[in-house]
Amino acid sequence: SLAGKTAIVTGSNSGIGLGIAHELARAGAAVVLNSFTDRDEDHALAAKLGREHGVEARYIKADMSSPEECRALIEQAGACDILVNNAGIQHVAPVDEFPVEKWDAIIAINLSSAFHTTAAALPVMRAAGWGRVVNIASAHGLTASPYKSAYIAAKHGIVGLTKTVALETAEEPITCNAICPGYVLTPLVEAQIPDQMKTHGMDRETVIREVMLERQPSRQFATVEQLGGTTVFLCSDAAAQITGTTISVDGGWTAL
Ligand code: NAD
Repeated sequence: SLAGKTAIVTGSNSGIGLGIAHELARAGAAVVLNSFTDRDEDHALAAKLGREHGVEARYIKADMSSPEECRALIEQAGACDILVNNAGIQHVAPVDEFPVEKWDAIIAINLSSAFHTTAAALPVMRAAGWGRVVNIASAHGLTASPYKSAYIAAKHGIVGLTKTVALETAEEPITCNAICPGYVLTPLVEAQIPDQMKTHGMDRETVIREVMLERQPSRQFATVEQLGGTTVFLCSDAAAQITGTTISVDGGWTAL
């Protein structure tokens, strides 16, 4: 059980981050949800999650493109036994047309934020005598596709950061690993299905199988619950000697 532990999940008011927060809370951890907005519904989401699992749950606004706000998130949380670096954005364009501000934003949110939160969290974990850092990378942290230069550079970068942090904490009761999801069925992906069906003139099942999951040999999406389960596993005693590595949850993508 993760009772007594506090987990901070960046970028967790939707999608994978929210799914991971649910599974950590189900395992008994107190959770801190985060995104860059500060709406009533963000705080309500945390309150609802807390009630559902009978744990303490809070929402803290922090923009992961700001180094100061990344570090302030850890400070404001007051505790950080489990840090899940999940916040991420995407932009698709050829390298020679890639907007500079998109490149900078993707590197800041998908990569540098994890440097800042980890730097702030390690002293807190050391003081507590236990810690888990889980970075949400991607199959694109291990392989590439055209037109996603910033995303792929950032995701390969976070895999490198993962290994380095693992070596620096190797003799301590702290681990650092990356999860590399393939295509995950989040509300954003679900919302693209009707459009894709229209564009390709295919039914739901065919467009998922032939178009969206063309690179995922299982021909099934991973789910946010599965990513949450993988995160909980990395926080368990069974995973105490797993550090500095990647776990692919990609239906065979990177085996192809
Ligand atoms: P999503 O858009 O549903 O979630 C992204 C989260 O990050 C949201 O909560 C959003 O509010 C937050 N966020 C965005 N910009 C932020 C900022 N500046 N500061 C703080 N929070 C910010 O997307 P998702 O699919 O759940 O993606 C989560 C992570 O998983 C990302 O790192 C993504 O690269 C990775 N991933 C997703 C897939 C997939 O198929 N969906 C596959 C592999 C990896």
